[in-house]
Amino acid sequence: MRSAAFGRRGIPRDFIQSRLPRQISFTLEAECPETRARAGILHTAHGDIPTPIFMPVGTQGTVKGLSQRDLWEDLQAPIILSNTYHLYLRPGHELIGQFGGLHQFMNWPGAILTDSGGYQVFSLSELRRVTEEGVTFQSHLDGATHRFTPASTVDVQLALGSDVMMVLDECPPYPVGHEFGRASMERTVRWAQQALEHYNGRIAASPPRQALFPIVQGSFFADLRRECARRLVELDADGYAVGGLSVGEPRPLSMEMVEATEDILPRDRPRYAMGVGMPHELAEYVARGIDMMDCVLPTRNARNGWLFTSEGRVVIKHAAHRDDPRPLDPECKCYTCRNHSRAYLRHLFQAGEMLFASLATRHNLQRYLDIMREIRQSILLGQFPQYLRTTRERHTLTSTVPGQV
Ligand SMILES: [Zn+2]
Repeated sequence: MRSAAFGRRGIPRDFIQSRLPRQISFTLEAECPETRARAGILHTAHGDIPTPIFMPVGTQGTVKGLSQRDLWEDLQAPIILSNTYHLYLRPGHELIGQFGGLHQFMNWPGAILTDSGGYQVFSLSELRRVTEEGVTFQSHLDGATHRFTPASTVDVQLALGSDVMMVLDECPPYPVGHEFGRASMERTVRWAQQALEHYNGRIAASPPRQALFPIVQGSFFADLRRECARRLVELDADGYAVGGLSVGEPRPLSMEMVEATEDILPRDRPRYAMGVGMPHELAEYVARGIDMMDCVLPTRNARNGWLFTSEGRVVIKHAAHRDDPRPLDPECKCYTCRNHSRAYLRHLFQAGEMLFASLATRHNLQRYLDIMREIRQSILLGQFPQYLRTTRERHTLTSTVPGQV
């Protein structure tokens, strides 16, 4: 089984707060003297999570193509992300609740973070209506009408048993005007207040050790983002997310938005950047004070034959790999790289075999988790600035090498 490093630790002394006991706690272990990078431990009811951390995306209560054993024992992923919107529609949170929650339903020993469903409502549902009370939408599965409110999404996530839950937020598309951005941000703040109020009432009787994070929005306006963060900090939550990124904006702009609120978000709470990023960007977000990230890129791209290696990207269908006996990445210790050649992987991909998706996903997730482990180690050793410089130099090099894309 797992190494002791991931075992549950005692609750630190600073866990007791004046308002309510913290549902999860965060220990800061090291801070980079030059950047805003931090290394820490997120203490949850399902284990201690070393940060910064990348969370594999398991939309439907499964990381596509992998078993829980692959994730837990081979990849040693301490936390995964799942989607409230999808699980609410199918199979339903009541059914999952009957099994004791998502951990038991999917038999996952690690921690689980769920989003509130807001992002999916805004991206998947064509028919939706936003009011002050919440959002009414039609299921993308069967067209049935449903309604999410700040309180109802907390209830759904409590039933799922998520270790980290998200408030309902409005995720505006890109671009929108400042006026729209302000109205949307203010609604997100009001929804966060309602969600936290409902949550505090629900957990007062029997604290379940499930945390609820508000989400900083404000489109791509630094003033709105800063105002949003200031108002959310008043809610004194266990952690904070930065949302509304990866909606089609140029990447420097998403970095800028993360930077805009870094000095406002409490230093002693975890910060989570939702839906980012490419492998070379992970260190950039960490350098801007981010502790947690998730993204569909490593898993989705794996299924499409797009692999991330320490030497750059590999598109497996490329003819150059047809008779290549080498592993995907000689520096990678994953099951795929230890056992199979590029030629075999290319064959599986070309033949449309299911095994390809599984082997490719293992590798890509190993790459993301390894990058985060390297980042964390470099912060603990005081070498993060050098790591960041090297990452930038290597990215410049690999992105210009012919045949890597
Ligand atoms: Zn590998």
